Amino acid sequence: MAELVVVGGGIGGLSTALSVARRGHRVVVLERGEFAEFGAGIQLAANGIHALDRLGIDVRASAVHVDELRFMDGVTGNHVASVPLTGEYERRFRNPYLVVHRGDLYRLLLAACRGSAEIALRANTYVTGYEQDGATASAVLDTGERVSGDALVGADGIRSSIRRQLVGDGPPRISGITVYRAIVPMADVPPSLRWPAVTWWAGPGCHFVHYPIAGGEFLNLAASDDNGATEAIAGVDVPASLVLARLSGLAATPRRLLELGRDWKSWVLVDRPPVANWTDRRVTLLGDAAHPMLHYAAQGACQALEDAVLLGELLDCAAAELGQRFEKYNAARRERTARIQRISLESIKLWHPAGAAAAARNAALAAMSTADFHDELAWMHGVREFGAAA
Ligand SMILES: Cc1cc2nc3c(=O)[nH]c(=O)nc-3n(C[C@H](O)[C@H](O)[C@H](O)COP(=O)(O)OP(=O)(O)OC[C@H]3O[C@@H](n4cnc5c(N)ncnc54)[C@H](O)[C@@H]3O)c2cc1C
Repeated sequence: MAELVVVGGGIGGLSTALSVARRGHRVVVLERGEFAEFGAGIQLAANGIHALDRLGIDVRASAVHVDELRFMDGVTGNHVASVPLTGEYERRFRNPYLVVHRGDLYRLLLAACRGSAEIALRANTYVTGYEQDGATASAVLDTGERVSGDALVGADGIRSSIRRQLVGDGPPRISGITVYRAIVPMADVPPSLRWPAVTWWAGPGCHFVHYPIAGGEFLNLAASDDNGATEAIAGVDVPASLVLARLSGLAATPRRLLELGRDWKSWVLVDRPPVANWTDRRVTLLGDAAHPMLHYAAQGACQALEDAVLLGELLDCAAAELGQRFEKYNAARRERTARIQRISLESIKLWHPAGAAAAARNAALAAMSTADFHDELAWMHGVREFGAAA
């Protein structure tokens, strides 16, 4: 049995603690704030649900089971194509595609961690870096204290202190895209627009996505604006009038939904290019700290969950072997996660063009059958072994 230090108590950190504790190791999770997750909805494709099942976490009770991914032309308001997510999707990928409130998912992970005798949770603990020798790895706190174990996992997100020291690739890349997010009570949504779908409205230089969350009680709104933002902000209030002005090119139906939004918050999206190595002997990275991606493939949390499951599976070893197992984990995960990082960035080209390019996109999507869409998604949503190459 070994002792692991996990830095960061987000979805990645808590799922790692669970996965590693299931192997019989002891874990301490160090979180700079409180153990809490705010924010809005999160989509969990079949691979994310499979990972959660492997961790013993069942989100189905609070999740919304969406019927399809629905692509709409945001300018004409016309339906372009749909990817069915029930029936054949579930049979083929052996799990549903669900949307949940982040808080609901987080509470389940947190309760499972609190219920484990192997896991200690330390809030308000800010980690500035790490140290290691041949036998131990330590988190260095801003107070100067060291929290030591046999190995350390940095799950401290896109601005990871552990990554700063381990990879040293500077601040994240600013995408120039701002996303505005709000949650609307479903009771306020006209009944004819309460679609059980993840819906995309593609407009020039912007797109707007919405889907039901919290058992269908709320509609989650997320609008992306290619506004060339140069400063990385997160969760900053933004007036509804600005959101509507920025998405004024959209048709009446999407605008009607946007007009329901109150208390909009904005994020400037950031990511990093993939790196091959995120392991330094007894220290490794996980989730957004290892492979941060734009959210357009809706896979960041799913990939953090997959990382956690695979890492836990590989740690059926004595403390002396942890470094080697970290190398294996890194090697197994690099290709798949890098591919999703690249696809997430590329997808902006699909959702934001105007004119002839938008018409060509619509024609290409409309020509695809359900089987074509599912074939396209199979490597990402259908994977059962998270170390499998992409
Ligand atoms: C708008 C948007 C929509 C998204 N939608 C989806 C989706 O639909 N599906 C999906 O799968 N993914 C989605 N994602 C991605 C997903 O949210 C992230 O990939 C996921 O939350 C990453 O989890 P993490 O634990 O690796 O990092 P984080 O959630 O960032 O957690 C890191 C934790 O570490 C803590 N921390 C940071 N620094 C320190 C420090 N120095 N010391 C101690 N603690 C520290 C933080 O407080 C935090 O709790 C979306 C992302 C965005 C921005």
